[in-house]
Amino acid sequence: MNGWPGSTGSIADGILHAARKAYGGFGSFTTLRLIVHADNSLIKFYMPLLSILRFPDPRLKKIAEPVTAVDDNIRRLVRDMAETMYEAPGIGLAATQVDVHKQVIVIDISETHDQLLALINPEILDSDGSQVGEEGCLSVPGIYDKVERAACVRVRYLDLDGQEQTLDADDLLAVCIQHEIDHLQGRVFVDHLSQLKQVRIKNRLAKQARITA
Ligand SMILES: [Zn+2]
Repeated sequence: MNGWPGSTGSIADGILHAARKAYGGFGSFTTLRLIVHADNSLIKFYMPLLSILRFPDPRLKKIAEPVTAVDDNIRRLVRDMAETMYEAPGIGLAATQVDVHKQVIVIDISETHDQLLALINPEILDSDGSQVGEEGCLSVPGIYDKVERAACVRVRYLDLDGQEQTLDADDLLAVCIQHEIDHLQGRVFVDHLSQLKQVRIKNRLAKQARITA
């Protein structure tokens, strides 16, 4: 694709290849990406983006199964989830949210989007203190509210090579890990709010869905 400034000629081919490969993965791909080429021709391809379930979809209540083997399928799922999270954009995504009920989460709280953390079978070993922060969720678009969480957590997980790792996290990263592990256990952050707030949020999202339908 010579018309792309700075391109080496094979970027589009590479993306198409990646998109095609992704079709063998989990979930469904819905995003048609259009790029206008420098000579005004149109390039169309499907990004390997996964559909994100929206609260109060009952599938968000499913409990994720542990991953039994960290294989290429899991690594592909992680890659597709990461792309979906970056594109949204968000700082964390649990497999539950893309209707894959396996214990996999991706997180990147960096501003540069280059510090991807993939946690497989994450388990909080220890937690301490408390913090209250405003949370949002890609499955609950446009809604933000304060949730109390542990201030710091120690989490054990498998990395992309299937090796066991332990991570100590505080501040935003600790919040993110707790929020995403909640998803794997069938909980959304609004479950931490009062019944009245939950009803209001459901009504607001139902209204939004009618407007965008
Ligand atoms: Zn969430």
